Amino acid sequence: MIKKPFVTKEKLEEIAAKYPTPFYLYDEKGIRDTAKAVKEAFSWNKGFREYFAVKATPNPFILDIMKEYDFGTDCSSLAELALSKACGFPGDHIMFSSNDTPREEFVYADRIGAVINLDDFTHISFLEDAIGHIPERISCRYNPGGVFKMGNDIMDNPQDAKYGFTKDQLMEGFKILKAKGAKEFGIHAFLASNTVSNDYYPELARILFELLVEVKEKTGCKITFINLSGGVGIPYTPDKEPNDIRKIGAGVHKVYDEILGKNGMDDVAIYTEMGRFMLGPYGALITRAIHEKHIYKEYIGVDACASNLMRPAIYGAYHHITVMGKENEPCDHKYDVTGALCENNDKFAVDRMLPKIDMGDLLFIHDAGAHGFSMGYNYNGRLWSSEILLKEDGSAQLIRRAETLRDYFATFDCFPIYQKIPFDELENL
Ligand SMILES: *Cc1c(COP(=O)(O)O)cnc(C)c1O
Repeated sequence: MIKKPFVTKEKLEEIAAKYPTPFYLYDEKGIRDTAKAVKEAFSWNKGFREYFAVKATPNPFILDIMKEYDFGTDCSSLAELALSKACGFPGDHIMFSSNDTPREEFVYADRIGAVINLDDFTHISFLEDAIGHIPERISCRYNPGGVFKMGNDIMDNPQDAKYGFTKDQLMEGFKILKAKGAKEFGIHAFLASNTVSNDYYPELARILFELLVEVKEKTGCKITFINLSGGVGIPYTPDKEPNDIRKIGAGVHKVYDEILGKNGMDDVAIYTEMGRFMLGPYGALITRAIHEKHIYKEYIGVDACASNLMRPAIYGAYHHITVMGKENEPCDHKYDVTGALCENNDKFAVDRMLPKIDMGDLLFIHDAGAHGFSMGYNYNGRLWSSEILLKEDGSAQLIRRAETLRDYFATFDCFPIYQKIPFDELENL
């Protein structure tokens, strides 16, 4: 697939004149088109709901868009629960799929009526201790162990994953939850990440639908939803083709009819918790070339660094780069594109063939809309960037301001050092 930026150079320069680089830019149209396609792909299932994985892009303006499609949120922490609640999501639209969960997070999740998705057998008693009861509606996360294969391809290793109940624990857990007052149950599993295949959800659905039938037989529990979680991927590299959510929806539908339909269980709702698929392609990190360096290799230094987007540094992940305005020029220069961290893995690209880059050029780093900004950090005292939404009408809306040194030093504000930092001077260099 040819990778094209969702914005022109002229528009980007206009935005950058107002909001200095680096910044994250999100494409409202792409997000909405995807939300509509997801809704349509699963419209055959009456109870379907996408619970957008907040951790992918935890911004209230993005969550507001999700809310317009009657989606919910999937949370993994107190902050994400609080954000969802503040954005106005009702409890049954908030899924709490956490693990290694602190007590107070269960308390708050229960208080706001979120659906609690337990990660472990021991969390049954932990939850009961924390909130004093077992909710009537509850879910458990399943880990089948072994390796997860699709055809002959090994997709992932659930046996090495820290998540979920074993099958025996799940059967036992459901019985205990039922005895303690739970009435409606869900089953959740996340078996492979960033799958660029229309077969992942259908394959996972088959495993969970068969499990549902077995759980029902063995425990008598009423299972009202199956949560396919995240894992639907995006093509980071240009040689891959994007998933077709309509095909994925139809694939799940087929398995649903085959297994649940024939057992008279066609009132089970399908839930998803996609993050990457919903937002990944519709966000970019925008940065400017500020240095070029010629030593044993050719380097381009940009004003963003791995603290803004850590995926290349920690996973060696490929993120396509477009040099704005040079889309049609030959890629005849080999560069390492680097940030300023004192870490040699702070490289957005290694040995990448790109058009000749001049100082001041804007670089569009693709597919950073999910697990991009949100994985940021402050190493080397680097600050968090702003986030901007490119609206459907072409205007640009600031949806998070850039972090300042005042924010960075705020946790020292009860110490005398805070008063000695010349913020005004530092902000006007
Ligand atoms: C991270 C995560 C997701 C979202 O995953 P994507 O691959 O971004 O779709 C969904 N559910 C849970 C429990 C997660 O941890």
